[in-house]
Parts: sequence; structure tokens; C-alpha cells
Amino acid sequence: MSYVDEVLARVKEKNAAEPEFLQAVEEVLNSLRPAIEANEEKFKKEALLERICEPERQIKFRVPWVDDNGQVQVNTGYRVQFNSAIGPYKGGLRLHPSVNLGIIKFLGFEQIFKNSLTGLPIGGGKGGSDFDPKGKSDREVMAFCQSFMTELCKYIGADTDVPAGDIGTGAREIGYMFGQYKRIRGLYEGVLTGKGLTYGGSLARTEATGYGLLYITNELFKDHGDTLEGKTIAVSGAGNVAIYAIQKAHQLGAKVVTCSDSTGWIYDPEGIDVELLKEVKEVKRARLTEYAAAKPSAEYHEGRGVWAVKCDIALPCATQNELLIDDAKQLVANGCKAVCEGANMPTTIDATEYLQENGVWFIGGKAANAGGVATSALEMSQNSERLSWTFEEVDSKLQGIMANIYKNISDAAKRYGFEGNYVVGANIAGFEKVAEAMIAQGVC
Ligand code: NDP
Repeated sequence: MSYVDEVLARVKEKNAAEPEFLQAVEEVLNSLRPAIEANEEKFKKEALLERICEPERQIKFRVPWVDDNGQVQVNTGYRVQFNSAIGPYKGGLRLHPSVNLGIIKFLGFEQIFKNSLTGLPIGGGKGGSDFDPKGKSDREVMAFCQSFMTELCKYIGADTDVPAGDIGTGAREIGYMFGQYKRIRGLYEGVLTGKGLTYGGSLARTEATGYGLLYITNELFKDHGDTLEGKTIAVSGAGNVAIYAIQKAHQLGAKVVTCSDSTGWIYDPEGIDVELLKEVKEVKRARLTEYAAAKPSAEYHEGRGVWAVKCDIALPCATQNELLIDDAKQLVANGCKAVCEGANMPTTIDATEYLQENGVWFIGGKAANAGGVATSALEMSQNSERLSWTFEEVDSKLQGIMANIYKNISDAAKRYGFEGNYVVGANIAGFEKVAEAMIAQGVC
């Protein structure tokens, strides 16, 4: 049995109740085979894969808070500090009822390689809670965030672990959490990213993941002698990543004709109106039915269905496992040329393989959505310098970082004989730096 297979078997046995985590480990380790097999004896002696699959620390805690009726509610909080070989733990906080330890571990594991790919000194971590901010009053959200941070603040800090936003954690939640951290720890420091602009946030952080996704998609097309001009794009999601992906796609001359939320989706052949979408989702926090009601050219459909729309490029930007094998078949049948993931692990393993086997260029989330965390790292730099850079400065650094990521993943894939396989390229390029740093730091 090869070293990769041995470790995979052990990880499966140890984490049997965590399917998302197993899915992520399987995907990463399988694609690392060429790099591992080239140094199998050394990595095995170092137990490098066993170490990389085991979080350095995982924290689980009670989050009690009082709702507007005076009723005490209890949620569970998590922070998984996965790997600090190349820098302080860095990764978002997800607030969604589906959150459990396995999901946080999968996200934290993926974050290690993504953060490494950015070329910036940040380790991998992730956290969150099964709290659902949807339908809660601002006071209830604040009560939850303050209680969550009262415990979390013991384990984080500007030089140890710097959380950020994710699903359900936007500017409002980050603000309440930052306030509570400062109050308890008495420190005004860059402990969270995604902060508001008046208290240490970075310009362009809000836009960064969506913009970064389009910058790397643009690099991909350029590399194949094509452009985004005139392309039709299907996007899923209607949150932070989706909104700014749509905005940048339009700026680059493409037309985005779909978006979705957790109950339905929109087909708008005239192109999604970003300002209207922002009004519906960011201001009113309403359903997409309101978008359709305000835009005569738009059709609203219940359930899922975005991937059935004919497109040149598909950008899944909602959540994990939202692009399934049948969706992949539909995309291929419709002549889709590229799938680039804005969300984390939105495409299942069989769907990814089907797309790749059928010649669709596929860039996984680790590389394609790394613009968010990269800009978070730029926010950390600005906080350390006590300076704020202009939007243009941050945006141009982001463009450089995404171009660099594309080059690195493309080169790594070529180096191991997998030209055009950007999943293998991303995992190997991300892994190499972390592996070297872990070995250099001894057994820890
Ligand atoms: P948001 O909470 O802003 O938006 C998420 C969107 O996805 C919403 O439209 C939501 O619908 C929809 N959605 C959430 N859960 C489900 C589900 N189970 N089924 C169908 N639709 C769902 O999150 P973000 O845009 O920030 O994040 C989206 C993805 O991108 C996540 O995978 C996240 O981890 C990843 N990501 C985000 C980064 C960032 O900087 N924000 C950075 C890197 C990755 P509804 O409106 O109904 O809630």
C-alpha cells in the first residue's frame, strides 16, 4: 500500500463521522500523489501527511445568549487551528445552522493550502457556529457575537490567529466581535479581518474574493489565447462572493445571466443587475423573489437549476457540494469551457473529474477564491503598519497575487506531468511550501 493510501485509510478510520472533512482530505491527498511519491521515504519518516491531516488544536465551546423574548439560547462555537507552519492561523468564521466540527475541519484543512498559495505568511484555520443570523434582530446578533467572542478571545490574537468573515459573518458580525475582543483583551489590534473602514478594515476586502475569482479566470483565458469579452457566465449564490464576481465579470466585458440563494434562482438574459441584487441581498436581506419582482426581464425559479443554463463559464459561489455530477454533465452538454470555484468545495469529486475528463478548464476554490484571504493578509499588513492603502493599491496587489497564483499552479501541474490540471497544480504548489516549512521546524 502506498504512503498516501495508508494515511487515507487511517484518516477515514479516525474521522468516520466527518464526511466533508474526509472528502477534502481525499481530494487533496490523491492529487498530491506525484509530489509525495517523488519523496515517499522522507515524507513517511517525517509522518508529514499524518501531521498535516491532524489539526494542531481544535476548540469547541458553549455560546449562550438571550433572545428578544428573554429566552436563553445555546449554540456551539468552534475554532480549528489547523496548521501554523508558515504563519498565524488565518481563516473565516462561518455562522450557519449546518455548521459542525467536520465542516469546520474541512474548511480549515483546505485553508492551509489556499493560504500557502497566496504567497503570504499565513497558516490555516477556520471557525464558526451553528447560529443562524437569518431572521434575528440586530440586538440578538450582537448578543450572540459578544458571547461567541467572550470565549474565542482567549485563543486568538494578531500574531496567533486572525479570523475573518465567511457565510453568515459579514461586516455587522465582525464589528460586534471586534468590539467585544477590544473590550475584554484591552487591545486594539488586527485580530480580525473584514473590519469596517473606520476601524482598521482594508479597502477592496469586500470585493476581493469575487474580483480575485474573475482575475484568475481572466488569466486562464489569456493563457489559452482567449478573453472574457462577450462570454456568458452562470453564477450561483447571491452573497458576498457572488455579488462582486458578477460586478467584475461585467467590468471585464462578460455577461452574467444567473444567481441563486438557498431557496431559488434567477435567470436574467439581460444580465444580472448588480445594484439591484445588492439592494435585495445586502440592504433588505430579502429573497431573490424581490429581484424578480423589480426586474421584468428576470425569471425566478424555486429550488436549484443554475447549471442547466447555457453558459461559457460557470462560477459556483454559494456553498459546498452545490455542483453535482448531473450538473457537470449538463454544463458539458451545453458547451461550457471553464468552471472556476468562488465557493469552497462547491463541486463534488465525481463532478470535478467529469468536467476535467471532458476538457473543461477547472480551477478549484483553493486557488480561485484565494483573493479573499490574500486581501485579508493585506489588511493585516496595513494594521501592523498602522497605515491604510488606497483601493487602487490593494486592488492592484490583488491582481498581481491572482496572476501569480495562476502561474504557480499552472507551472506545478506541468512540472509533475499534469499540464492543464489546475487542481493537482494548486494542491502541489500549496503543499510544497507548507511541507518544507514543517520539516524545517522539526517535529512539532
Ligand atoms: P454569503 O453568506 O455572503 O452568501 C452565501 C450565498 O450562498 C447566499 O446567497 C446563500 O443564500 C447561499 N447559500 C448558503 N448556503 C446555501 C445552501 N446550503 N444551499 C444553497 N445556497 C446556499 O457567503 P459568501 O459569499 O461569503 O461565501 C460563499 C462561499 O464562498 C462559501 O463557500 C465561502 O466559504 C466561500 N468563500 C468566501 C470568501 C469571502 O471572502 N466571503 C472567501 C473564500 C471563500 P441566502 O441568501 O438564502 O442565504
